[in-house]
Amino acid sequence: MYFENTREFAQKLDQKDPLKKYRDQFLFPKVNDKRVLYFTGNSLGLQPKNTRQFVNDVMKDWEELAVEGHFYAQKPWWDYHERLANPLSKIVGAKPAEITVMNTLTVNLHLLMVSFYRPKGNRYKIICEEKAFPSDQYMLQSQVRFHGYEPDDAIIEIKKRDGEHNFRTEDILKTIKEVGDECALILIGGVNYYTGQVFDMKTITKAGHDVGAFVGWDLAHAAGNIKLDLHNWDVDFAAWCSYKYMNSGPGNASGCFVHERFHNQKEIPRFEGWWGTSKETRFLMKPEFEPMANADAWQLSNAPVLSLAPYLASLEMFDEVGMDAIIAKRNQIVAYLEYILKEIDEQVESSFEIITPSNQEERGTQLSVFLHGEGRKLFEYLMKKGVIVDWREPNVIRLAPAPLYCSYSDMYEFGQILKEGILNKVS
Ligand SMILES: *Cc1c(COP(=O)(O)O)cnc(C)c1O
Repeated sequence: MYFENTREFAQKLDQKDPLKKYRDQFLFPKVNDKRVLYFTGNSLGLQPKNTRQFVNDVMKDWEELAVEGHFYAQKPWWDYHERLANPLSKIVGAKPAEITVMNTLTVNLHLLMVSFYRPKGNRYKIICEEKAFPSDQYMLQSQVRFHGYEPDDAIIEIKKRDGEHNFRTEDILKTIKEVGDECALILIGGVNYYTGQVFDMKTITKAGHDVGAFVGWDLAHAAGNIKLDLHNWDVDFAAWCSYKYMNSGPGNASGCFVHERFHNQKEIPRFEGWWGTSKETRFLMKPEFEPMANADAWQLSNAPVLSLAPYLASLEMFDEVGMDAIIAKRNQIVAYLEYILKEIDEQVESSFEIITPSNQEERGTQLSVFLHGEGRKLFEYLMKKGVIVDWREPNVIRLAPAPLYCSYSDMYEFGQILKEGILNKVS
């Protein structure tokens, strides 16, 4: 791709951007009366303008119909969650029957582990990546303890090689082989939250199955960001949050994938509740649980409609745009940001080191950058200038230009502000 680090060039890219109209469908915070340059769509996506209407519709139905809203709301509440399965199935590469939406991410991973972490005899170990997202670490430690094992023994962390920033697939496969028939479960973040590295989920899933383990993925940083094909990759289960790349609002609901081969399995252990029982007989209030014939069997409670409404609003936009168009823009805007960073690197004394893989197949929307020789003051300066980035001590910034609402001009303006900050030695 040919790029120039000029305002005119960035504006030209914006004019040609097939997704340009979506930028105006989002609400941007303002700093100094100007829309911020927003790089933290990997942490909390911006609010789409139509979200409020979706929430208001529920509020209105509640006001006017009260309990009758369960069946007579414009979008009835009792099966509201089912509306999300179809658009989500396209985002994660699944059949709609393999998707359910409920609870929040860590909760869902715990619930899914009831079905998919079933240690027995020698087979009790879990393979994960080193320095996984903290919630995942706490979750795995508490799960193995719950089953009577010691985390030091039962959790096998895949390591990076000394001096390298990313995991190598060959090392992961080697670990899986070594743990072999002691491996009960492989559970890794599909896109590493710190570096933005995308794991080879298809190959790793197959290797896990070859040693007889279940394989699940935490897709917090993957859903709505990268191409996923969960069904065909033969993944056993997965879960993701919706407030990062999927713009559903703070702390909002999580989506789950359960491969169809587990639906209708009578013996599969699972924590159950009334929203997982057959719709046809649910309100007969029978004592026997008759599981739904799809991933909804894992549902427990009646749907939290007020939090599903913003998720649905966002999914309708994703459905309209499609992941292919999002990924096409993502590749170009991230490449442009990378180009700008390298340009500026040559003009300033401090050096940037992009620790995210340079290969587009191994990364999504995020670039993680070591700013050698810079410190927290630079981050504070950026925030004051209306650049919202994520800073990790001592000096890593994570930049995630979400394709739906970030522009090429944003990348250019960011570069100028960054360069000015470094040259003026704000840090
Ligand atoms: C963001 C994130 C979470 C957050 O979990 P919640 O239960 O939604 O708070 C968990 N795991 C990973 C890998 C994440 O990136």
